[in-house]
Amino acid sequence: MSKIDEPLYVAISLDIDPDANSAVEGRHDALSSPIEYGEIRVDACKKGLQKILELLEKYDIDATLFYEARTAQMLIESGMYLPKLSERHEIACHSLKHEDFLGKVSGIPMNEKSIDESIEKAKEILVKLFGQEIKGFRAPYTRINRTVIKVLERLGFQYDSSETAILGTEWAGKPYPLEAFNSSLLELALPSFRDAKGKKMSSYLWAIFEGRRIFSEYIDAVLQAREVAQGGLFAFSIHPWHLYVDCQGNQFSNNQVRKNLENLESIFSQIKQMQGIRILRQDKYMEAWLKEKDSS
Ligand SMILES: [Zn+2]
Repeated sequence: MSKIDEPLYVAISLDIDPDANSAVEGRHDALSSPIEYGEIRVDACKKGLQKILELLEKYDIDATLFYEARTAQMLIESGMYLPKLSERHEIACHSLKHEDFLGKVSGIPMNEKSIDESIEKAKEILVKLFGQEIKGFRAPYTRINRTVIKVLERLGFQYDSSETAILGTEWAGKPYPLEAFNSSLLELALPSFRDAKGKKMSSYLWAIFEGRRIFSEYIDAVLQAREVAQGGLFAFSIHPWHLYVDCQGNQFSNNQVRKNLENLESIFSQIKQMQGIRILRQDKYMEAWLKEKDSS
């Protein structure tokens, strides 16, 4: 296939973490909002994940599932048979307990040893639960620094997927080494782009669920990316809990939940039919990209 015919690759990635999670002052791990209750909840995450996995089956889409290890354990304890349900998808790591590694909100940045221990434990738990090799990492709040990246390298991760990069002339959706962190670890960044009015947008779908954007804006973004990023990856990102509760932890009305599901389904069904688009898991994209790089 000549370069000119190369498709735009699209990945569906899920950050599977506690409902309406928030970093908390004075502690490393996250709590569900409102944080005053001191609770960790996954019931909205469970419902949302079930629905999304059904939709992925329906549209025959393989996705990348970034599991927070604690959430995976809680979902399994609640009776969800995750290993079977996740079988066709890539299992990747989204920390142990949604730690605020950099201490931006907690006020207590974690040192290298504690970051190392928590990510290593998370990886161990996920390997044990799912029996898959874990290659990818996405940091809680997508916040990384040199220490986190150093730990990921030491633990044998193949890629990080926490950064956001502007899609366009500077970056066409390809993996790049994290030189800014003095590392050769590869980054599969999430795209940011402009909407029709020139307003900045990201590929996280939260703005749809909060009623701030409509699905067609994301379809337009993919069409736009298809022009500037052939051979690159456009990764969508979704929090399953966000289909059922807002960022403050308030339940959406049944009507809003139905709308959220319809919007999500519209995105899946439209990208599935689009010319010049190929949907695949982030690890499969990375594998193909590395192979092509080796051969050229
Ligand atoms: Zn998260």
